[in-house]
Amino acid sequence: MMKPAIVVAVAVLAAFTGTADAGAAVKVITSTEDLASIAKEVGGDKIAVESLAKGYQDPHFVEAKPSFVLKLHGADLLIVVGRELESSWLPALITQSRNAKIRPGGEGYLDASLTARILDIPTGQITRAMGDVHPEGNPHYWLEPGNGRRAAKAIQEKLSQLSPGDAPYFAQRFADFDRRLAEGETRWKAAMAPYKGRKIVTYHRSWSNLTNEFGLDVIGYVEPRPGIPPSPAHTLTLQHEMTRQGVKIILVEPYFDVKTPNAIVARTGGKVVVLPPSVGGVKGTDSYIALFDHNVRLLVQAFQEVGAGK
Ligand SMILES: [Zn+2]
Repeated sequence: MMKPAIVVAVAVLAAFTGTADAGAAVKVITSTEDLASIAKEVGGDKIAVESLAKGYQDPHFVEAKPSFVLKLHGADLLIVVGRELESSWLPALITQSRNAKIRPGGEGYLDASLTARILDIPTGQITRAMGDVHPEGNPHYWLEPGNGRRAAKAIQEKLSQLSPGDAPYFAQRFADFDRRLAEGETRWKAAMAPYKGRKIVTYHRSWSNLTNEFGLDVIGYVEPRPGIPPSPAHTLTLQHEMTRQGVKIILVEPYFDVKTPNAIVARTGGKVVVLPPSVGGVKGTDSYIALFDHNVRLLVQAFQEVGAGK
């Protein structure tokens, strides 16, 4: 056992330097827990990573806390989802942090959407003034495993640039994540295969990449447009369409009110399924791969419960 005086000395030293690893670690801040999970996969103990938003929050509308500014001030790298997902809360915090490295264009700024496959890119003129929060295509692209892999690759390259001595370590971590993700893709595709072509409704347009991956057909949304709350007229039209096409499932993100979806299925029959779009959204989703395992399990269960249907 250590003598008390030595324990104190060690504790004081630790307070100054953090743990031995944290002293040399790249300080990474991500906007979402999904990106934090992927960064952790690649960065291992060579990085210290923290997400600003929690997985149970709507990533479009995160309440900015003063502590966020401090975290950004001390960051070596900021990783964002991009495509305007964070545009209502993050840019002001970046400015307030007075950390030039992590500004867009800076060495310590990484926009994971730049290498992602983006769906729902508007063909006409859509601006945020219309209330649509997806003016640059679907920002929920991390819900496609291939995009998780692309984000991991971009993070590997960025970390290797910031900490060149650790590049082989990051490459090995990426390879390991890539292999486990590929195993997951095989597992999820097999589980979802019987439900290919099934029609569903979702609350927000969060699931385009996921439903595209598994061949599900989203026939409508509870929101009239992304970011616009449900209106009685839109709800009625949606309800008629669900009845006409025999659609039984409404997916709802945990941060939305289930009142309208519940009212719809009370008339159409069927089931409201609360599905987390992000790591940390509910219990059992503490990593990127665990999020897909959890959601695939819930989807399979829901399709089994509503029966053959459409
Ligand atoms: Zn959205």
